[in-house]
Amino acid sequence: MNLNVNEIFYSLQGEGGRTGQASIFIRLTGCNLACSFCDTDFGQGMKMTVDEILQEIERYACKWIIWTGGEPALQLNEAIVALFKERGYLQAIETNGTRRIPAGIDYISCSPKQQFEKVRELIPEVDELRFPVRKGDPLPDIAIQPKAKRYFLSPIFDKDSTVRENIDYCVSLIKKNPLWALSLQTHKLIGIR
Ligand code: SF4
Repeated sequence: MNLNVNEIFYSLQGEGGRTGQASIFIRLTGCNLACSFCDTDFGQGMKMTVDEILQEIERYACKWIIWTGGEPALQLNEAIVALFKERGYLQAIETNGTRRIPAGIDYISCSPKQQFEKVRELIPEVDELRFPVRKGDPLPDIAIQPKAKRYFLSPIFDKDSTVRENIDYCVSLIKKNPLWALSLQTHKLIGIR
């Protein structure tokens, strides 16, 4: 079994409910969306077998994988997830919510884009919903979103001049709607990957 892999690196999860936890990031190539604020270069990659990926990651003192992208659910399937599980890995996925998630994933972080409203049909329940928010965006309507254990608003860190505005806007939304919590891209704030 092969996957098109953009990069593999070891760091701390920078955002959402697992912030600060050591994690092996496996970034798969390709995405089915083209968000204006996307800051990820997921286009290029190399084909790797599952065995090659396992060999690459076994040097890290960590059993948490984060499947990210791009949109990792375009490539992952249950058989691949099961192989990593057999080797003792816990697996999180960062998904845009436009594809079903293979069984066996241990932590689903779903970051639907504001314009996509059919996520709940595809993914009924997630561990966290994390919405990128720019000043002026509406608060997401949770009635049409997957049921989540935690709800995060994530100020978009696109241009220095607007980051502060986006943060202030999210803080104001959360104070009025305390179901939500703030998720900052702490890896950018502290200068790690
Ligand atoms: S869904 Fe995520 S990876 Fe894909 S274009 Fe949007 S921000 Fe980038």
